[in-house]
Amino acid sequence: MAQVTEHGGGVWSIEVPIPDNPLGHTLVHVIETDSGPVLIDTGWDDPTSWDALTAGLAELSLGITDIHGVLITHHHPDHHGLSGQVREESGAWLAMHAADTEVVKRTRGAEPAVWLEYLTRKLAAAGAPDEHIEPLRRARASGGMRTLPGLRAAVPDREIVPGDLLPLPGRRLRAIWTPGHTPGHVCLHLDEEHPANRPGNGRLFSGDHLLPGITPHIGLYEDPDDATVTDDPLGDYLASLERIGRLAPAEVLPAHQHAFTDAAGRVRELLTHHEDRLRDLRALLAQPLTTWQIAERMEWNRPWEQIPHGSRNIAVSEAEAHLRRLVKLGQAEALTGSDPVTYVAV
Ligand SMILES: [Zn+2]
Ligand SMILES: [Zn+2]
Repeated sequence: MAQVTEHGGGVWSIEVPIPDNPLGHTLVHVIETDSGPVLIDTGWDDPTSWDALTAGLAELSLGITDIHGVLITHHHPDHHGLSGQVREESGAWLAMHAADTEVVKRTRGAEPAVWLEYLTRKLAAAGAPDEHIEPLRRARASGGMRTLPGLRAAVPDREIVPGDLLPLPGRRLRAIWTPGHTPGHVCLHLDEEHPANRPGNGRLFSGDHLLPGITPHIGLYEDPDDATVTDDPLGDYLASLERIGRLAPAEVLPAHQHAFTDAAGRVRELLTHHEDRLRDLRALLAQPLTTWQIAERMEWNRPWEQIPHGSRNIAVSEAEAHLRRLVKLGQAEALTGSDPVTYVAV
């Protein structure tokens, strides 16, 4: 039995499992339009996930061939993974924000060796110890790396343009650009009366931007062809959160966990969480530290010693996102001439 929830007003969600992942599932939303049903996100590219998606649609008396279009909140594989198969079997259009479509194209074109070279350089610059970098060097030298995830991902054929009403006959759905979790993440605002007349401003499909019990990962917008980018993803994310807080939707339909109300309250919690984290980071920088040393000292969901190799890379990326925010705020700076570069509070 597929897990399907009816949210009223021609909106449903289907739990599509993410195999071997503590997140459990992606909530794929189905929205009725005058041209046929449209999906918001698709789920992980795996036969089990595909079966759950099609079983969920069957419960709504829909076949995959009925799908008219697919809106993707962001390029991550638990959202975009099944897009190719959905498009292939239904002929549906596939839309994404241009900034994330860029990432999809880049990933498809990437050579594992180029990516490993980039990662090695980044980690060395962050002050990672040799024993952490060595396995990457070995993998690169042997050419023995698995293919990168995302190589099969479908390139979208339509662009989600924020601000305008999306061309969905019979519905008032508008994209709000919410960069931070990824550069092209969008939330989708259903600018229609809440079906249960809940007070507030319509409903929001929030993707991974706003989740009831998870703080989304904020890393760097990595580009192996350009290691000099100094974007500020955490700053982007915080600004995107405030945008959603001001919107004050009556209900949030996120892509994981469950639907919830009080979007403004959840936004405040997340803003406070990052403020606290930045304050703790600034306190750590009473002494000069490399990005790696900062990552080792920041609080994660388990002790640093227990964090596996790949997750440490993600942690370093998240530490650097916080560090860049502090530097932008004028609360920390790089020590000139330090190599690897060390940062200190100012
Ligand atoms: Zn994501
Ligand atoms: Zn996700």
